[in-house]
Amino acid sequence: MLIVQKYGGTSVGTIDRIQNVARRCLETQRQGHQVAVVVSAMSGETNRLLKLAAQIQEDPNDREVDVIVSTGEQVSVGLLALAIRALGGKARSFLGHQVKIQTDSTFARARIRSIEADPVRAAFAAGEVAVIAGFQGVDEAGNITTLGRGGSDTTGVAIAAALAADACEIYTDVDGVYTTDPNIVADARKIDRISYEEMLELASLGAKVLQIRSVELGMKYGVPIHVRSSFSDAPGTWVVPEEKEMEHVVVSGVTVAKDEAKITVEDLPDIPGVAAKLLAPLADASIVVDVILQNQSWDGTTDMTFTVPLADRRRAVDILRSTIPDLVGNEAERVSWDDDVCKVSVVGVGMRSHAGVAKRMFTLLASESINIQLITTSEIKISVVVAKKYAELALRTLHAGFGLHLPPTERGAL
Ligand code: ASP
Ligand code: MG
Repeated sequence: MLIVQKYGGTSVGTIDRIQNVARRCLETQRQGHQVAVVVSAMSGETNRLLKLAAQIQEDPNDREVDVIVSTGEQVSVGLLALAIRALGGKARSFLGHQVKIQTDSTFARARIRSIEADPVRAAFAAGEVAVIAGFQGVDEAGNITTLGRGGSDTTGVAIAAALAADACEIYTDVDGVYTTDPNIVADARKIDRISYEEMLELASLGAKVLQIRSVELGMKYGVPIHVRSSFSDAPGTWVVPEEKEMEHVVVSGVTVAKDEAKITVEDLPDIPGVAAKLLAPLADASIVVDVILQNQSWDGTTDMTFTVPLADRRRAVDILRSTIPDLVGNEAERVSWDDDVCKVSVVGVGMRSHAGVAKRMFTLLASESINIQLITTSEIKISVVVAKKYAELALRTLHAGFGLHLPPTERGAL
């Protein structure tokens, strides 16, 4: 088989750990597999480099900043290749441009366009472990680019796709994807198998195990992703195409996102085009508007409430204030906001075929007197916005109420 292994910063955080990774790679190779390894920078290194750059220039979206931060991975590939050799194995390191991880030119968050996997195949043919730098690529003009924080996951899955690998193993400091944050809910369970779609929802809702783009790539190219711990041999979580049995699991995970803020704009004219006019300037400023609620009143006006990332709230309000007079022809102050909210979501592909998930969710929240401010749903997700002080309580209540502490087969009907 052909296996891609990706090791995160903690897994290569010290020389000891790098030697541990080297042993794992060689063990996999000795089992008869071809092994490509993608590594992150040693833990803390990317932050350190970013801070250095920030002392001179705040904006990280810059060619030179990518030149700086990409060096973390250059060090770890060199060290790992040395460590593999020291154990009697064969290894060759590759930087982004040496496997031609071609990206666009969006510095700090470039997207991969193509990969030339031939140098990796040549390494395999020579019996070597191919050790590839995560996070970095090269644009058409030859500039070094980086793929955004956590981007080594995406490198790993992209390399796996390019090599048509049998699996992409993502080694991290947790042993898999959990039904919820185990730091908040002690009896959270490791999920054995989860669909790409569910993982995308969980990742975008704040489960920080995988970079979202890596899951998108995995889904697009059908790469089975195995999230597991580099400190144990226990199987982790497989992220795979949806399987028939997954439908029986109505809710697979519960998450909370605390970095949201709620904005309300009152007394807008209730005419076609208002929502577009209100929200377009926010989109133009790259502010992502999430949960949206519109209320109608009898007097021909409407109120709109929506959430934005907490970090963008101030900017969003400024933009709205400068836009709204234009909407209705007067300058009355009708924009208000609330930073003390969070978004709690339940996710599961089984929702497509099971009614009653929303009812159950709302009943559970009501049983703890948690007031729901906003609701939004997709095919496989229901999210509610509630006061931030309820974040942990809501998570615990929903996790227990949907029986997520039990094995999927014992959770029973809704
Ligand atoms: N070293 C980069 C970061 O810290 C990429 C990665 O670790 O995936 O974001
Ligand atoms: Mg990571």
